[in-house]
Amino acid sequence: MFQEKEQFMIKEEIQALQLERIKRQVEHAYRNVPFYRKKFEEVGLKPEDIRSLEDVSKIPFTVKDDLRDHYPYGILAVPIERVHRLHASSGTTGIPTVVSYTQKDLDTWSNLMARCYSCAGVTPDDIVQNAYGYGLFTGGLGFHMGAERLGTLVIPTATGNTKRQISMMKDMKSTVLCCTPSYALYLIEALKEEGVDPSELSIRIGMFGAEPWSDETRKHIEKSLGIKAQDLYGMSELYGPGVAVECPQQNGLHIWADEFYVETIDPETKEVLPPGEKGEIVFTMLSREAMPLLRYRTKDLAVINWERCACGRSHPRIMRIKGRSDDMLIVGGVNVFPSQIEDILVGIPELGEQFQIVLETAKLDHLFVQVEVAPEHWGKVDLKELSHKVGAKLQASLTLRARIELLEPGTIPRTQGKAKRVIDNRKRI
Ligand code: ADP
Ligand code: ZN
Repeated sequence: MFQEKEQFMIKEEIQALQLERIKRQVEHAYRNVPFYRKKFEEVGLKPEDIRSLEDVSKIPFTVKDDLRDHYPYGILAVPIERVHRLHASSGTTGIPTVVSYTQKDLDTWSNLMARCYSCAGVTPDDIVQNAYGYGLFTGGLGFHMGAERLGTLVIPTATGNTKRQISMMKDMKSTVLCCTPSYALYLIEALKEEGVDPSELSIRIGMFGAEPWSDETRKHIEKSLGIKAQDLYGMSELYGPGVAVECPQQNGLHIWADEFYVETIDPETKEVLPPGEKGEIVFTMLSREAMPLLRYRTKDLAVINWERCACGRSHPRIMRIKGRSDDMLIVGGVNVFPSQIEDILVGIPELGEQFQIVLETAKLDHLFVQVEVAPEHWGKVDLKELSHKVGAKLQASLTLRARIELLEPGTIPRTQGKAKRVIDNRKRI
């Protein structure tokens, strides 16, 4: 098993290593990044004040805007000659967030990704088909380097050309499929259209991540493709994919705590929450050279579980992420994440997997959901009755009012990457 020792460290070992590494990282950031030195000085903190893991809570937070403010090269802690790679996040909201890596950072990241594959059950004998986007997005290269590091055969199909994707899977007998869960759903439809029975494929494990997806969606993917669908979490600021992954127990994602120190905070008061309480996840990277990140606020909301997992690993688990604080909608006073809506819709057999939430008016007193009917039910079900049923289910589970529009299968645009679940048609004033 790849990096077996690191995967099976016990809690005490992990925490001892965390403390040693945090001290070193704090020193590194303070000495080499003016941005951090200024932040420390503002609160009167010196690197030597960090003596225990509890002291970490004294360190000021870092947020995405801090990284954007340092565009183009980011908060570099090494001379530019030592930087060997840049990636950047999509930048849908303006200036992209650029992240940088030294050779050692790329090495650490590759090991982490290889460890994720191994933890999820992938072995060097597997044939990995990587359908994540290659380029500035960290998904493609992250999954690629990890597979190479583990020693598998890796086929870099990247996104696009679904027909070729399918014929590659068939001809090369790929055993592991890497893509977003949205793309996996689309592939299932495309297989049907192409008349390919999933039993003709050799895929046994899916490595799906980069966006929230529900347990119901997992069941659907596993059943349709006859595979184990494993969840994997990461973000470009934290190298990319490879921060946490599910083991075969599928009961939370193991965060590699020898590389990432994790805290949960109340997003309003910014107080650290006790383990087991849901809050915003905050990470401190423990050995990043080029771009140290101390107490980085992810905006992702989840619960951390430090109990030893049934698989024998003691790395803490992040229970599946339902959404980001900025994806949360408040509808008639009820807080709701698109993934909660997905959970309910996927459980209704007459519906397809594609849906979107359309925001029409500034004041959200009800939800407008467009959802496709399942192809085998289209033209056979009474649409009025079905939309009532869907509305009633949403009302019963989430206590919110919803207007439902049922669409013909294939109407909602499919994605190769992350799904766009919320369409904001509200007029900007
Ligand atoms: P961006 O989307 O900003 O370009 P990333 O691709 O790095 O940047 O996206 C990171 C974000 O994607 C995370 O903060 C999280 O919200 C989401 N994400 C990634 N993996 C998962 C996962 N397995 N489950 C839920 N959300 C995820
Ligand atoms: Zn486990």
